[in-house]
Amino acid sequence: MLIKRKRLIAYVALFGLYCSGVHTSVESHPESIIDPLLGPRVQLPSFWVGKDEPLKDIPILVLAGHADSQGMNGAGTAGEAVDLKGAQPMDKSMRDELYWNLKIRDEIVRVGTDKGLNISSYDPSVRHLVDETDPRSNWSKGYRHSLNGGYAIEIHFDAYGKYGYGSGLIPALTANLNTIDESLAQEFGRYPILFRGGLGSPRRQIRILEVGKLEGELENNLRNTATSETTIKLIAIRIADSILNGLNNPQTINQ
Ligand SMILES: [Zn+2]
Repeated sequence: MLIKRKRLIAYVALFGLYCSGVHTSVESHPESIIDPLLGPRVQLPSFWVGKDEPLKDIPILVLAGHADSQGMNGAGTAGEAVDLKGAQPMDKSMRDELYWNLKIRDEIVRVGTDKGLNISSYDPSVRHLVDETDPRSNWSKGYRHSLNGGYAIEIHFDAYGKYGYGSGLIPALTANLNTIDESLAQEFGRYPILFRGGLGSPRRQIRILEVGKLEGELENNLRNTATSETTIKLIAIRIADSILNGLNNPQTINQ
């Protein structure tokens, strides 16, 4: 019920923005785009709409961002706690972002399977792959999955402070964005289609979901042993519900 009410509010807000013709008007009300669980949302101007209707049983592949790029450029953010507050990394063998990306990836698959999604995950198992075209890499696997008609999405947390933008979906570079994309963008935020000139994943038809900036309340709730499990579950439920909504309610999404 709470989620339905929130969606209704989001639709009303989106409709208002649509009527005003100025998507960036949300920037004048920054408080309206702070999510209580995830923190700030991306505020970049973005105009794409996901309209294609995917097959109801489309295979969904969930990847953990940076799972194959540790110890090199593109290892992901260490997070505010480690970088600025002197906290120990959650796991010394990886950046904190990957630690949380893996947790969220696995929980989405658990929750999504329970909810009836045709969903699975992939792990490259090797954490340091220099050659991105290596067939074991996230990008290679996600690209092959998308070419075969599946939906591939890579989980990320954004950088803290001035280095990050906030939660939101970075779409794939395609003219065929669908109602899953649209639903995720309405729920989490909407990055421009050519964000940073087109990142590696979107060029390979892999969507990127920035869950939120790895800082502040969100990071505290993840790190705090009393709230960690619930926080991971809540995030995973929102992602799975959003995917389901895109699959099951395309007409509502497109209104
Ligand atoms: Zn990342």
